[in-house]
Amino acid sequence: VKRVYAFGKDANGNNVTEGNTDMKWVLGGKGANLAEMANIGLPVPPGFTITCQTCMEYANAGNVWPEGALDTIAEYRADLEERMGKRLGDAEDPLLVSVRSGAPFSMPGMMDTVLNLGLNDASIQGLIKQTENPRFAWDSYRRFIQMFSNVVMGLDGDLFENAIVAMKNDRGAASDTDLTADDLQELVGEFKTIFADNVDGEAYPALVVDGAVQFPQDPMVQLQLAIEAVFGSWNNPRAVLYRATNKIADDLGTAVNVQSMVFGNKGNTSATGVAFTRNPANGAKEFYGDYLVNAQGEDVVAGIRNTSPIAELKEVEGLEEAGAQLEEIFGVLENHFRDMCDIEFTIEQGKLWMLQTRAGKRTAAAALGIAIAMEREGLISKEEAVMRVAPDQLDQLLHPQFDKDATYDVVARGLNASPGAAVGEAVFSAADAVAATEAGRKCVLVRWETNPDDLAGMIAAEGILTSHGGKTSHAAVIARGMGAPCVCGVEALKIDAAKKEAAIAGTDIVIREGDMISIDGTTGIVVLGAVDLVLPELTGDLDTILEWADEFRTLGVRANADNPEDAELSRGFGAEGIGLCRTEHMFLGDRKQIIQTFILNDDELIREKAVADLYEAQVGDFYGMFKAMDGLPVIVRLLDPPLHEFLESPRELDVGIAKLEVSGASADVIAEKRALLEKIDGFAEQNPMLGMRGCRLGIVYPILPVMQVRAIATACARLQKEGFAPKPEIMIPLVSVLPELAKLRGVAEATIAEVAEAEGVELSIPVGTMIELPRAAVTANEIATEADFFSFGTNDLTQTTFGFSRDDVEGEFVPQYLAEHLLPYNPFATIDPGVAKLVEMGVELGHEGNPDIVCGVCGEHGGDPESIHTFNRIGLDYVSCSPYRVPVARLAAAQAAI
Ligand code: ADP
Ligand code: MG
Ligand code: MG
Repeated sequence: VKRVYAFGKDANGNNVTEGNTDMKWVLGGKGANLAEMANIGLPVPPGFTITCQTCMEYANAGNVWPEGALDTIAEYRADLEERMGKRLGDAEDPLLVSVRSGAPFSMPGMMDTVLNLGLNDASIQGLIKQTENPRFAWDSYRRFIQMFSNVVMGLDGDLFENAIVAMKNDRGAASDTDLTADDLQELVGEFKTIFADNVDGEAYPALVVDGAVQFPQDPMVQLQLAIEAVFGSWNNPRAVLYRATNKIADDLGTAVNVQSMVFGNKGNTSATGVAFTRNPANGAKEFYGDYLVNAQGEDVVAGIRNTSPIAELKEVEGLEEAGAQLEEIFGVLENHFRDMCDIEFTIEQGKLWMLQTRAGKRTAAAALGIAIAMEREGLISKEEAVMRVAPDQLDQLLHPQFDKDATYDVVARGLNASPGAAVGEAVFSAADAVAATEAGRKCVLVRWETNPDDLAGMIAAEGILTSHGGKTSHAAVIARGMGAPCVCGVEALKIDAAKKEAAIAGTDIVIREGDMISIDGTTGIVVLGAVDLVLPELTGDLDTILEWADEFRTLGVRANADNPEDAELSRGFGAEGIGLCRTEHMFLGDRKQIIQTFILNDDELIREKAVADLYEAQVGDFYGMFKAMDGLPVIVRLLDPPLHEFLESPRELDVGIAKLEVSGASADVIAEKRALLEKIDGFAEQNPMLGMRGCRLGIVYPILPVMQVRAIATACARLQKEGFAPKPEIMIPLVSVLPELAKLRGVAEATIAEVAEAEGVELSIPVGTMIELPRAAVTANEIATEADFFSFGTNDLTQTTFGFSRDDVEGEFVPQYLAEHLLPYNPFATIDPGVAKLVEMGVELGHEGNPDIVCGVCGEHGGDPESIHTFNRIGLDYVSCSPYRVPVARLAAAQAAI
C-alpha cells in the first residue's frame, strides 16, 4: 500500500505531485486540494501527505505504527529536504515544516496543527543567519515550543500565556511585539523549563535525557510525536462530537500533511489571511476575508488581533503584487473547482503562497445566491445548481428575525457573522449553555471567542455572541455551519467570564447571567431584553431554486396541516395538497367538553346532541380547509387517538378530589367527581397506543365516523355549490385487517351517498387507509382491494415494527443504542431500512390489489431529506410533511431524482 504522497515542486521547479482533488478519501480534503493546486500551477509550499488509512491502521492497532510506515515517512522527509535544499535541524540553513491534520470532510478547528517544526537549539542559529532577524527567529522558536507543548503534549496553554504576560509586565511591554529578541530568547528558556516540569517522563521515555525530561532536540522525534498527535486527535472528544453532530463516519481517519513552512511574520511585506472567493454570508460576488500583516497562521482565526478586510490587501505597500495575484487566483480556483472556494494563504516577503482551499462553507442564503449566479455565469448546470443547496440548510432561511414593528434599543454592535435572530438568557460558558437548555430555558452563549471545547454549548444555545474575532473566527464558521445566529467581534463587550457578566464599554450597562438578551446575526446587533421574533418572507432566490427543483423531481410534496392558516402557508410553500389533516386537533379547546360529554354519558339523547354539536363544528372546519386548498386534494383522517386523551387525567382528578375533601366541599360534589373518576378509570388501558384507537374507535362507536364523513361531504357539497373545486379524501387509520376497512368504507360510502342525495350534488370522495401496522403492510394486496389510496404512517409503522414506543424514545435506551452504535441513527427521524422494506412491500402488494392505488407517506419521515431519497427509490407518489418542511422536501425530492 502506498502510504505517503508528495506534493509541490522539486529542486528544479518540476511538479512532483502524486495526488489530486479526487483523492480526499486517501489524502483528506486538505491534502487532496494542496495536490490539486500544485497540479494547476499555483504556488504551494512543497510537502507530503500521509494517508487517512494509515491513521486508521495506527488507531485500530492501539496507536501502533503499521510495519514500514515510519521508514516510508523517513524517505519522503529526506526527499522533501532534497527538494528544498535544506535539512530539518540544520545549523546553517534549516528546513522548517508544519504538521497539519486534514480529514476527508472539513472539520474546522477540530484537529490540531503544529507550525515551525524542526527548530532546536542548533537550527535556531541557522534561522538567525538566514533571516538576519534574531527577533523573528526566537519568536518562531517560542511559538513552536508553545504549540508543540499544547497540541502534541497536551500541556495547558495558560502555562505559557502566563509566562508571556509575566515577561511583558516585567519589561513594561504593552504588546507581544514590544518584546525584544533577547526577551524572546529568555522566554524560550522558560518555555523549555515549563516543558520539562510538566511532561510526564514515564509516558514519553524518548524525551528523557540523563534522567530528566527535555524539550526534544531531534527533529525526527519532534516530527514523529507531532504526526502521532494528529492521528490521536481523530479520536479526541470534540472531534468525535463534531462527527456525531454532522453525521460523519468514525472510521475515515485523518491524513497528516507535512509541509515546508512559509512565513507571514517576516516583517511588513509579509502577511497571512483567510478568504472566500464570494461572500459566504449573502453570496455576493465580492472578495471576502481577513488578513493580518506580519503575522503567522492561526493569528487570524484565533481572533487575537483585529484583522483588515481582504479587499484592501492590494493597497498595502509591498503587498500590491501578491494582492493582485491572489485576486487572480480567486478566479482560477472558481473556474477550476466550479464552486465558491475558501482559501488560506500566506505572503512571505512579497511572495504569495497558497496553503489551503476547499469548497467554502456558506449560509443557506449564500448557497442559493451562489448556485443561481454560477448557473447564470455558465459555470454549472441547473441540475448542479439544485444539488449545491443542502436541504437542511433551507431551514436557515426560515429562521426567525426581529419583528419589524418591535421597538428596542441597540446596546452594542458587532459583525453579522451568521444570519437569524436569537433570544435567550445570557450564559457565559458552554457548560452553562448546556445546563440552561437541559432545564428547558433558551440561552445565548456569550464568549470572548469560542474554541472547539465550546462546541456542546454552541449546539445547545439559541445563538452565539462574541467580543473578539472576525467573520472567519471559530464562532462565525461553526455558527454558519450549524445555522445558528451569531454576532461576533463586539468590541464594546467587556466580558468577565469568571464573574459571569459583561459590561458594555462607554455605558453603565452590565449583562449578568440569566439576563434576557436578543441578537440579530443578520445585522450584527445586540439588544438588552427579549425582542419579538417573526418568521421571514421567502426570498426570490429560494423560489428560483425550488422552481428548478420542481423541474427535476418526480415525487409529489404535500403538507400535514389541520387548519386553514397552516394549509395556506403550506400552499404558499408549494404544497400540492394536504397529505394528512388530523381531526383530533379539532377537538381541543371548547370542543373537548363536547367530546367528553359524548364519551362519558350513557344517555343516548345527550350523546346524540353532543355528536350533533361536533358535526356543526366540523362542517366549519372542513369548509375552511377545503376552501384554502381549493382544487388540491385534502386527505382527512378520521379520529385516531385513544379516547382517554380527551378525558381529564385520573391522577389530576384524584388530587383534585383530595383537595376538595380538605377544603370541606359538599359531599355531593365530591361524589360526582368520584363517579367521574371511576368512569374515566374504566377507559384506562395498559397500552393505549395499541388499544382503543384508530379504526377501532369507528367500529365501536360508528356514530363518530358517520358524523365526520357527513361533515366532510357536507362541506364539500356546499363549496361545490359555491363554485369551488374541493377535493377531500377520507382516510381510515390503523387498519390491520381487510374487514375493518371494508366495514368502515361501507359506512363512509353510504353516508356520502346520503349527503349527495340530500344536497342534490354529485360527490366523488375517495376512501383510503393508512398503512401503519406491519400486518397491513404484508397483506396490502388484500387491503388495497377496498382502498383508493394508501398513506404510510411511518411513525406508527416504526413504533410497531421495532416495538419501540415513539413517545419514549428520548428516554433511556435509544440514546444509549445510538451512543453504542447499536443503531446508526434514530429510526423515528430517518426511515430505518427494515421499516422501509415494509413500505416497499406495501407499495408493491398494494398495486397488485389495486393497480390505480395512489401511495404516499405522512409520517415525520416525509420531511427528512435522507428518508425522501428512500421514498423516491421505492416509487411513492408523494411525501407529506409539516408546512415549514415543504421547501426542504421539494429540494430533497429533486436531488433524489437527479
Ligand atoms: P486548520 O485545519 O485548523 O485550518 P491548518 O492545517 O490549515 O489548520 O493550519 C492552520 C494555519 O496554520 C493555516 O491557516 C496557515 O495559516 C498556517 N500554516 C499551516 N501550514 C503552514 C505552512 N506550511 N506555512 C505557513 N503557515 C502554515
Ligand atoms: Mg486551515
Ligand atoms: Mg398513526
